Amino acid sequence: MRDWVSFAEIKSRVGLAQVLRCYQVDWLRRSGLGQYRGRCPIHRGQGREAFHVHLERGVFHCFACGAGGNVLDLVAAMEGCSIRAAALRLQGSPAAAGMAAGTACGAAGRKLVTKKREGNPRLGFSLDVDRRHPYLARRGIDGATASHFCVGYFSGRGLMRGRIAIPIHDDQGRLVAYCGRTVEGGDPRYRFPAGFQKSQVLFNYHRARGAAGDRVIVVEGFFDCMRVHQAGFAGVVALMGARLSRAQKEPLTGRFSKIVLLLDGDATGRAATTQIAGSLASASAVTELLLPPGVQPDQMAADQIRRVLGEMERSQGIGTN
Ligand SMILES: [Zn+2]
Repeated sequence: MRDWVSFAEIKSRVGLAQVLRCYQVDWLRRSGLGQYRGRCPIHRGQGREAFHVHLERGVFHCFACGAGGNVLDLVAAMEGCSIRAAALRLQGSPAAAGMAAGTACGAAGRKLVTKKREGNPRLGFSLDVDRRHPYLARRGIDGATASHFCVGYFSGRGLMRGRIAIPIHDDQGRLVAYCGRTVEGGDPRYRFPAGFQKSQVLFNYHRARGAAGDRVIVVEGFFDCMRVHQAGFAGVVALMGARLSRAQKEPLTGRFSKIVLLLDGDATGRAATTQIAGSLASASAVTELLLPPGVQPDQMAADQIRRVLGEMERSQGIGTN
């Protein structure tokens, strides 16, 4: 029974809109009620209007390369896998469980190409990635950390192709986006889906909130966060930049009474540390850790990170998480 899949059930549960968002196919334009058009994410060639999607019917067709079908055909085409493998992938996607077709195709569908959204809608589908890609080792991320954060190299089609896919969750742990980090120096270095609101989420908050203790370490980037976690500090979140929005501040001060700022040792990081410390001071006890010029947490060895945070703990007489 383990490999049994119901294609019909999957098609009714996971919508084309969710799958397209997951692959960062965010350039399609609305051409009618529930219908979208644009460049084809599968062949990525000629024909700016070649790719047609009909959300309510749950079908797509490309008039240039001839690809077409339902949500399973789309996943199979994007991943270069069989229909059966695509079905198993969609079936095994935990976020899709219990999701009604109306939610999948309706609300999310209207937002497919909308630039401004209220909050980030959840994705109902996760990418299949290689967690043992050498880029992760080059950035000092070990296998256990890659598995913990579910990061890895995506070799399928679309704009995430050839990038490290980094899943981002809302504070309830629902997957809302993938950020794609270039591996070979392509532009942009970090690709977020169009319309994604960074200011609405803190990377890793949903895990950090469950960590022991009342202290959290705040860093700038994904890799800073993963490296600090790897050094033994589970209570760590990333701003995905050097700003703290009001929407990010509330969950932080609501859950943690001690906040440690460990931003990059450059002018931007310094200025942000002062500014963020000021905005948090009335709600939590804030510690500003200033790294030497040019140093950032993702370049620090685990024992360096432990030393910096350990010195702070000794000076304040508080324990580790
Ligand atoms: Zn095509």
